Amino acid sequence: MMNLPLFPTTLAGSLPKPSWLAEPLKLWAPWKLEGAALAEGKRDAVRLVLKMQEDAGMDVVSDGEQTRRHFVNGYMEHLDGIDFTNLKTVRIRNRYDANVPRVVGPVSRKRPVHSEDVKFLRASTRKAIKFTLPGPMTMVDTLFDEHYGSREKLAMAFAAILNQEARELCALGVDVVQFDEPAFNVYFDEVRDWGVAALEVARAGVTSKVAVHICYGYGIEANNKWKQTLGAEWRQYENTFPLLAKSSLDQVSLECANSHVPIDLIAMLQGKDVLVGCIDVASDRIETPEDVAKVIRAAMKHVPKERIYACTNCGMVPLARDVAAGKLAALAAGADLVRKELSRS
Ligand code: ZN
Repeated sequence: MMNLPLFPTTLAGSLPKPSWLAEPLKLWAPWKLEGAALAEGKRDAVRLVLKMQEDAGMDVVSDGEQTRRHFVNGYMEHLDGIDFTNLKTVRIRNRYDANVPRVVGPVSRKRPVHSEDVKFLRASTRKAIKFTLPGPMTMVDTLFDEHYGSREKLAMAFAAILNQEARELCALGVDVVQFDEPAFNVYFDEVRDWGVAALEVARAGVTSKVAVHICYGYGIEANNKWKQTLGAEWRQYENTFPLLAKSSLDQVSLECANSHVPIDLIAMLQGKDVLVGCIDVASDRIETPEDVAKVIRAAMKHVPKERIYACTNCGMVPLARDVAAGKLAALAAGADLVRKELSRS
C-alpha cells in the first residue's frame, strides 16, 4: 500500500447515493435508471463520492458501494443457484424479519462481479482504495437455504467464490479487500466453529491487506431496538477478537463511537490494524473533530498508535449526503488533531 499518515482515515463502506440514482435515506432502494443510463449513472455517482472523500481528506477511499443496491444482495444477485424472484420471509441476524432470496441449487459465479468496477475506481483516484465484499457467514444469514442443508457448507461454497473475486480485485490494484461480517456479532458458536475458517478460505492468496468489518448494523430501527437490549456494556467482540487475533487477517473494522463497546476490548486484537469507529452512523449529528480525537486518544491506550486507523462505525448509505460529507470531514479533521498533538509532544 502507498505511504499513509499516522491514523489513516477510511470508511466502513457505503455512502449515500445521489437522489437521481436511487431513493435517498433508504436501504436496498431501487434504481431510478435503467440499462446504459444506469451504468453511466453508477459511474458518475462513484466520481461524486470519490470527490466527497478526497475533499474531506480521506486516506483510503472506496466506491461508496454506488454500484450495488445492498451490501449482501448486491453481490449475491450475480451468482447462480440463488432465486431472487420468489423471496422468503425469514428472521435474519436473529433479530428482524426480511424478505430474502432462496438458495435452490449449487452456488457459483458466472463471471467476475466487480472487476470492471474496480478498474474504474482504480483509474479514477490516486488514493489508496478499499473494496468491500460480503462475508460468507453474513451471506448465509441473508438467505433461505433449500439446497445445502448446512450453513457451514454453504458458507464454504461462498468463501471459495469470494476468494476468486478477492484475488482478481487484488491483481487489479485494490489496496484493501474488506469482508463485511455483521453476523459475527450474533452467532458466536458459528464464528468459532467455521466463521473465521471461511474467511481464511476467502483470503487465501490475497496479497493486499484483508479486513473484516464487524458492527452493530446500520442505524435502522430494528438495530436501534436490538441495541437497547444489549445492556450497559456491549462485550460481543470479546467472543470474536481472540479468534481474529490468531487469524491471518490484517485489519479489523469495529464500532466504537457512541456505542457501549468497552474500548479496552481492542487490546485483544494484538498484531492487527484496528479500524476504530469514530463516527456514529445511527445519528444525523455531525461529530466535531474533538469528538473524533477523543476516540482515537482512547484507542491509543490499548493499541500501538501505528496500528490505528480512524474509520466510521458502519456504512452510511441511509444518511443524507451532506450529513455523510460532514462526518467524513470531521473524521479527517479529528485524526489530524491527534497527529498534531503528537508531533508537538
Ligand atoms: Zn457495518
